[in-house]
Amino acid sequence: MSGVVEGRTGPWEMVIGLEIHAQVTSKAKLFSGAATAFGAEPNTQVSLVDAAMPGMLPVINGYCVEQAVRTGLALGAEIKLFSVFDRKNYFYPDLPAGYQISQFSQPVVGHGTVVIDLKDGSTREIGITRLHMEMDAGKSVHDLRADATHVDLNRSGVALMEIVSEPDIRSPEEAGAYVRKLRSILRYVGTCDGNMEEGSLRCDVNISMRRPGEAYGTRAEIKNVNSVRYMMKAIEYEAERQVEILEDGGSVALETRLFDARTSTTRAMRSKEEAHDYRYFPDPDLLPLELDAAWVESLRAGLPELPDAKKARFIEQFGLSPYDAGVLVAEQDSAAFFEAVAAGHDGKLAANWVTGDLFGALKKAGLGIGQSPVSVDRLGGLIERIQDNTISGRIAKEVFEIMFESGRDADTVIAEKGLKQVTDVGAIEAVVDQVIADNPDKTAEFRGGKDKLMGWFVGQVMKASKVKANPQMANQVLAKKLKG
Ligand code: ADP
Ligand code: MG
Repeated sequence: MSGVVEGRTGPWEMVIGLEIHAQVTSKAKLFSGAATAFGAEPNTQVSLVDAAMPGMLPVINGYCVEQAVRTGLALGAEIKLFSVFDRKNYFYPDLPAGYQISQFSQPVVGHGTVVIDLKDGSTREIGITRLHMEMDAGKSVHDLRADATHVDLNRSGVALMEIVSEPDIRSPEEAGAYVRKLRSILRYVGTCDGNMEEGSLRCDVNISMRRPGEAYGTRAEIKNVNSVRYMMKAIEYEAERQVEILEDGGSVALETRLFDARTSTTRAMRSKEEAHDYRYFPDPDLLPLELDAAWVESLRAGLPELPDAKKARFIEQFGLSPYDAGVLVAEQDSAAFFEAVAAGHDGKLAANWVTGDLFGALKKAGLGIGQSPVSVDRLGGLIERIQDNTISGRIAKEVFEIMFESGRDADTVIAEKGLKQVTDVGAIEAVVDQVIADNPDKTAEFRGGKDKLMGWFVGQVMKASKVKANPQMANQVLAKKLKG
């Protein structure tokens, strides 16, 4: 679905802003030394601070602050050397303190930018409003018993980065591209593992509709969407729902909604007008966070090459299309694999093999690039045999499949299966002579001016040679002999 909905009364444009909660990759929590491993037994990773026992004091985890600053730097954002932790007050059974420690009026990271990569190879800039640090709450478990709710505090106090975008996104595709790009950047800098199934990356979607070019309308917010696909479906449904209301002369309610994955619909959860008054105030247990400018600069200097820079370099250095370069740089492992294969080989050929046959086979086998049965050296070896004309590109696909299944190298497979391309002129001439002798009618037609038959003759020669004849040579020999 594009970002424009054609209504009865004319077109409506989507306006979307995303709030993403990214869990900081840290062994300890934001204000305590308790562990954060996913999937632990309930309530086994809870310190007295996380359980909000009276008199306990939070102590800021410097490592988590460092990761938030590195993330801000990777988003090209302004780093605030002075920021404040606030208490966000509300009552909930899985929030034992009765408040969440967050950053409200003075977050650690200000304005930044994410460049999104679209299918047609073009890019767009999406503004980042802010990034702030906060603690996660615990989890209420409603499905263990019919008559009671359980509380698991393992998540309580886990460090989150909330990354808020400007309302710059204009379609479900752009929203998907934004989440994928942000996830890619977070994984490059190693500040969040981006695992949406485990809840390390959660997404709140804000969406409103407007007449193209006019002022923004009232938005609805869809909470905690946990996959890119669901997010795109939620946007599609919500856009249609809002257009129906607007076209009937109604107004969209400012409210929080939930996405139901079974029906691909959204439903109202609570109105924003009734939303809690959080009574934010600076947490008296924590000093303001003051950062040293030189330390921030040292973190900037230590960042890895980021996806956009790598993409530009791949386009420049290997002559790749923006689309292929974008696919290759999405994950650091894939980019490194490609670069190692491309070293000493034709870059475009290497890119085609990595994004095509290799990614396809890995996906089918459910493997990551780190578990590829065809190593960098072996894929390079296969490409060498194409480049030196030992095998054709078509036979190479067959060789690759056997390599992937058996773990053997290209030369072994080519030798064992007798797939070496025939480049001996004498041998090709013999096949061509035979094909001409077997097909006197077609030969006469060709000689009578039916040039189009050339393709058919090449096909016969390839078939007779079990696809092993060098195609260019088969063409040349045929052209010479047919002209007779
Ligand atoms: P809240 O805390 O109530 O969610 P914020 O001011 O933090 O409010 O805004 C949250 C998100 O809503 C941001 O990502 C912003 O881009 C988006 N947003 C703001 N106004 C609109 C609008 N009219 N339509 C769509 N998204 C919007
Ligand atoms: Mg919000």
